[in-house]
Amino acid sequence: METADVVIIGSGIVGSSVAYHLAQQGCANVLVIEREAHQGKGSTGKSMGGVRAQFSTPVNIQMSKYSIDFFSKFDDVVGHPADYRAHGYLFCATSENHLAYLKANRERQNALGVTNVEWVSPQDIAKMVPQLRVNDILGGTFCSTDGFVDPHSVMMGFMLNAREHGVRLWLDTAVTGIQGDPGKADVPGHNADGTSALRASASRRIAGVQTTRGFVSTRVVVNAAGAWAAQIAEMAGAQLPVEPLRRQLVPTEAFDRLPQRFPMVIDMSTGFHFRREGKGILLAWNDPRETPGFKTEFDETFVEKILTHAASRVPVLAEAEVNPRRAWAGLYEMTPDHHAIIGPAPDVDGLYFVNGFSGHGVMHSPASGRVAADLILQGRSDLIDAHQLGVQRFNEGRLLEETAVL
Ligand SMILES: Cc1cc2nc3c(=O)[nH]c(=O)nc-3n(C[C@H](O)[C@H](O)[C@H](O)COP(=O)(O)OP(=O)(O)OC[C@H]3O[C@@H](n4cnc5c(N)ncnc54)[C@H](O)[C@@H]3O)c2cc1C
Repeated sequence: METADVVIIGSGIVGSSVAYHLAQQGCANVLVIEREAHQGKGSTGKSMGGVRAQFSTPVNIQMSKYSIDFFSKFDDVVGHPADYRAHGYLFCATSENHLAYLKANRERQNALGVTNVEWVSPQDIAKMVPQLRVNDILGGTFCSTDGFVDPHSVMMGFMLNAREHGVRLWLDTAVTGIQGDPGKADVPGHNADGTSALRASASRRIAGVQTTRGFVSTRVVVNAAGAWAAQIAEMAGAQLPVEPLRRQLVPTEAFDRLPQRFPMVIDMSTGFHFRREGKGILLAWNDPRETPGFKTEFDETFVEKILTHAASRVPVLAEAEVNPRRAWAGLYEMTPDHHAIIGPAPDVDGLYFVNGFSGHGVMHSPASGRVAADLILQGRSDLIDAHQLGVQRFNEGRLLEETAVL
């Protein structure tokens, strides 16, 4: 029978990072199981590749700080390229509320060691991207170490390195069930009023996973199944509040009326953001009318909506050509408070969640892999206070609030 110390379900950027970090910490009897014939067919291959430290909550700022530092050394440390480009993120505020929000965030970022977030005036912004309409922009923030990576390269780098250290990867293999040891017998307990009662004992314990290639015996399963994570949790009888939400991206054809190099620009009045991608421009906007579901087809009516926002903020973009067949859609894995869920499942011993990145799974992949490996191997992590990201927060009313979701 096949056995592994740890089975990771899903070989996207998150599962690959967990595999890498486990192997780095000396745990290489790890099997990664991926139902697709190639890696990157989930959200990782659809991502915009943006990385930024400009968040509002301490835990997201800390995760970004570790991750961006990691990306800056990735090629040397991992031995494969990440294509990290420190072109910056430029947030453009058009209201006093936006300014107050950016100011509070900047203070928090600074206090946590992200000291290079600069205030920029409308004139500074116009210098960075002269084609931007700045007449209603009051100011903004710019962080030069924010930027982009190539998500596919990062995922492959993590996995190749992990495999060089002994991790195994099964492609074309779906996990179809998770088996636990039968629950221990009920144990005597006491009701609140002191009367005796029979209570179901502690949690079930992972025994292995059923796959399309047969059974794999293991005591530890990591759920890294992205937008499909709730289905995996259910196989183990656990609840996971992660919902798929479609996001769409539109690339323009070659366009030379914007600079060759400029930051990711975020128009806070609409949420429209864009960056250079090769010879063209990659346009993004999260339609607030999108509803949860496994919808991955690109909706062609989206092109007109996004071009309206684009041309309003960057008038020359009205001249950009767009071929809707080159546009694409993918899934965010959303949680109720837009923060990741990282840590053990409370009722199933040996099941770990690394899910629900709510649009930030690429940029936070180094930190999430490291924290997950720490929790599995040591039961704690000194990188962040991981308790905050535990799934129990939803039952205990400890939700985190991140308003800077792109
Ligand atoms: C349009 C778009 C733009 C984005 N832009 C950004 C961005 O700029 N920056 C950023 O940080 N993030 C961004 N994201 C989010 C980011 O892509 C995700 O958070 C990240 O890729 C999640 O990685 P993952 O490994 O958890 O999931 P995935 O890459 O989806 O991997 C999960 C894997 O699990 C596998 N799987 C599922 N079920 C099973 C099963 N039963 N058995 C075996 N395998 C299974 C799937 O096949 C898949 O390969 C974007 C997402 C989208 C859609």
